[in-house]
Amino acid sequence: MKRAIIDSKKCKSCKVCEVESKCTMHAPFREIPDQKMWIDFYKCSGCMKCKTICPNNAVNEIIQPCNGKGKLGW
Ligand code: SF4
Ligand code: SF4
Repeated sequence: MKRAIIDSKKCKSCKVCEVESKCTMHAPFREIPDQKMWIDFYKCSGCMKCKTICPNNAVNEIIQPCNGKGKLGW
């Protein structure tokens, strides 16, 4: 399964995160304002629409592995 992941070296902790505001799954989050963004893999659908939205190119694509029991890993 595809998932989006934020590259913390590229994320500039924008005051308004375009990735967060455009994601319909509400997967991007941060606990403190101005912190770097995280993606909640349980909410992310892997649509990758956010990949072209971030002005700093901070969104990468990763593959979430299966744990061998018919469920996703992590
Ligand atoms: S993910 Fe992109 S838009 Fe969102 S805070 Fe980081 S750099 Fe800014
Ligand atoms: S891949 Fe899709 S669901 Fe996941 S964070 Fe990006 S826009 Fe949201």
